[in-house]
Amino acid sequence: MILFGFNGFASRLRDKNFWSIDQNKATSSTWRSLLSLRDLAARFLRPKLGNGQLLSFWHDHSTTLGRLIERFGDSGPRELSISISAKVSDDCDNIGWLLRGARSPAAEELQTYLTTIPLPTITSSTDHYVWKVNGDELVEFSTSKTWNVVRNRGVEQAWTRSIWFKGHIPRHAFTSWVVHQDRLPTRSRLLRWGMNISSSCYLCGTGEEDRDHLFLKCEISEALWILALQRLGYSFRAFHTWTSFADWTATRDSVTSRTLKQMVAQATTYNIWIERNTRLHAQEFRTPAVLFKIIDRSIKDAILGRRKLKKFQLLMQLWIRYE
Ligand SMILES: [Zn+2]
Repeated sequence: MILFGFNGFASRLRDKNFWSIDQNKATSSTWRSLLSLRDLAARFLRPKLGNGQLLSFWHDHSTTLGRLIERFGDSGPRELSISISAKVSDDCDNIGWLLRGARSPAAEELQTYLTTIPLPTITSSTDHYVWKVNGDELVEFSTSKTWNVVRNRGVEQAWTRSIWFKGHIPRHAFTSWVVHQDRLPTRSRLLRWGMNISSSCYLCGTGEEDRDHLFLKCEISEALWILALQRLGYSFRAFHTWTSFADWTATRDSVTSRTLKQMVAQATTYNIWIERNTRLHAQEFRTPAVLFKIIDRSIKDAILGRRKLKKFQLLMQLWIRYE
């Protein structure tokens, strides 16, 4: 429907371009709200060049170089001597492209690119838009697939904020960030890179060492999470996958302060990784109880060191109440 809408509107706009219309000047509220969604839609809508009679030379994403108006800037139409309202088909005839000699590397790049595509004037298909989600061109618009991409970005931003919160412990936040990106060299990742090693977890020796196992499902990590969650006042663990863990750390609840929860989550994540590396390199094994003492100490030190920050003033009280 939306795809049909965009194709329909695009043909009705005639000389105006959908991407450059000033939404504040729109007279109908439906039209204004549709225009306000342009940035969001641009992530999914891809113009498909046919005969070039509908797509704008400057505004539509009709080249692999992106939108030409963004690439060349406002001086582009003057530089290439192509009107801002030109359609793609206005700039070529049956023999070739009607462009003046290139005066800049960008113009040269564009001309090189244009020689690689079929001339619109000799193409029989019409211009149209397709809806692309995660690289797949959808034959029909899919609300659920599109929403998933939009929603995940929202979660992603919430998670970014929940990692780099005010007063974070830098080495804990950094490690958590890398874990969230799944970029740590766990054994399952090393195996994917072609290394000839066993996949079993350094902590328990039985599970396959990937991110979710190592940080959430491994029996050593589980025991550590139980200690950390009890100290925070939680009666059960609400997360068993990385997505639910990310949601949990980013969400406020009535059990404890979100800042304290985020600090403890990062300290736990960090210490699981350190313990895994210590076992690997130094053959030293610490129990979850010993690891929790290290976490406890680092949380207390961090709260004391940040006591001048307003939101840290009550944290010590919250952290020691279930000691
Ligand atoms: Zn394990």
